[in-house]
Amino acid sequence: TMDYGPAPEANQDVIAWLAAKKDGFGHFIGGEFVPSKDGAAFDVFNPATGAKLAQVAQGGKAEIDAAVESARKAFGPWSALPGDTRARYLYALARLLQKRERFFSVLETMDNGKPIRESRDIDIPLVVRHYYHHAGWAELIESEFPNHKPVGVCGQIIPWNFPLLMLAWKVAPALAAGNTVVLKPAEFTPLTALAFAELCREAGLPAGVVNIVTGDGRTGALITEHPGIDKVAFTGSTEVGRIIRKATAGSGKKLSLELGGKSPFIVFDDADLDSAVEGIVDAIWFNQGQVCCAGSRLLVHEAVAERMHAKLKARLETLRVGDPLDKATDMGAIVDAVQLDRIRSLVEQGRTEGAACWQPSIAVPEKGLFFPPTLMTNVAPAATIAQEEIFGPVLVSMTFRTPDEAVQLANNSRYGLAASIWSESINVALDCAARLKAGVVWVNSTNLFDAAAGFGGYRESGFGREGGREGLYEYLAPAWEKKAEEPAPARKVDFSVTP
Ligand code: NAD
Repeated sequence: TMDYGPAPEANQDVIAWLAAKKDGFGHFIGGEFVPSKDGAAFDVFNPATGAKLAQVAQGGKAEIDAAVESARKAFGPWSALPGDTRARYLYALARLLQKRERFFSVLETMDNGKPIRESRDIDIPLVVRHYYHHAGWAELIESEFPNHKPVGVCGQIIPWNFPLLMLAWKVAPALAAGNTVVLKPAEFTPLTALAFAELCREAGLPAGVVNIVTGDGRTGALITEHPGIDKVAFTGSTEVGRIIRKATAGSGKKLSLELGGKSPFIVFDDADLDSAVEGIVDAIWFNQGQVCCAGSRLLVHEAVAERMHAKLKARLETLRVGDPLDKATDMGAIVDAVQLDRIRSLVEQGRTEGAACWQPSIAVPEKGLFFPPTLMTNVAPAATIAQEEIFGPVLVSMTFRTPDEAVQLANNSRYGLAASIWSESINVALDCAARLKAGVVWVNSTNLFDAAAGFGGYRESGFGREGGREGLYEYLAPAWEKKAEEPAPARKVDFSVTP
């Protein structure tokens, strides 16, 4: 076995950073870190070890009011800046994140449980790219969107599966387009958002342009219901998405929702099965399967199903599950005990409904929140595990006979976020792709993301796109559109200090 050595050096920096905040983290409002008025707070844990990492403030009405007010005050001057001046702040944030890549990777892994290899090679580099890309858009905003203006104050609520990346997907386009934000990270993973708040200060971002209020769903509800919010952007469960859609209906608030999925991974009989196996490992065991666009339904041609399953099982025997800070680890910890219970009970229900459950004989740590990579076969298309998003490292497999049947099975879902097709025939693949109801279709590949490509869903996977030109429209309004209540007049704020 290879010895990759213990966790990276940056652990010490992260530990020191956490130790310096042992009295608890406050919210980032109007450029300052402030505790909750009522003193409410909650603890944040490392899911791989159970260790308490930090105490974080629970935001209430007073905090959301203050954050919205500070975002409102900053909006006038911030939106009035030329795009290329706003770009300088986004470039500065990108550079600072790049410099601290290691720090953010380790902190993300400790907070979320994802393997350090993923946070270092995927999450944080994508975050950096997102800020660079949107710095470019900020420079182009006047020339590319001459008939548009920023929406105003954006309330942004994000999940725990890609904490800093989801923050980047929200904050970067909002700022590029001239909006200000009140963002709430997920309660399981608020730490990288708070470290990002420190970078905002370091980059000299004017106070109030970015406000970060921590807390659980109650804090989120206060954001979505606040009359001073012009746009809500949400990523998370379909269930909460529905609540938010109701809460914002008739309010005039602009809304985008990025919700769950049950994405098909279709393998035709002429596919390169070895590549497809690697694709599946990436599709459903990446980030322990806690990925909204995870390829969680394997649809495999019946002629190759047996071979495919055999290859897949052999590959799963080689995965390493364990310490997320170890560079050799393939699968880390599940984010929280609630999620782990949900995964366990759905797998159990799958068994009860007649599916066969297979798990490799690899070691899985007993301490900490771990779940082995799991393959469910003999699954009926109507079974609960074929329909419900498990949001864990569990693949359900079904077979098909004809391309029509593959398409029909793939579309037999209330979701429509992503799909992946594997075939050596480009005609088969493209014909199939055009018939799939999915926001993105990958051919002979999976989980490819880029800041320039719009990402989002159909059906109960939500609406609106994030990334690229399409994503910017979510943060722009037609120039002629008049709000009932216009933003407060611009206050004198000193913007002379640019990074
Ligand atoms: P969630 O929807 O419960 O939480 C997402 C965010 O919304 C969190 O910040 C949470 O505090 C906030 N929130 C909760 N209730 C709210 C309310 N009433 N009003 C406003 N905000 C509220 O999702 P979760 O707990 O993070 O994960 C549970 C499920 O969500 C998963 O099993 C999965 O189905 C789905 N999920 C999807 C994605 C995605 O990217 N599409 C990401 C994470 C989770």
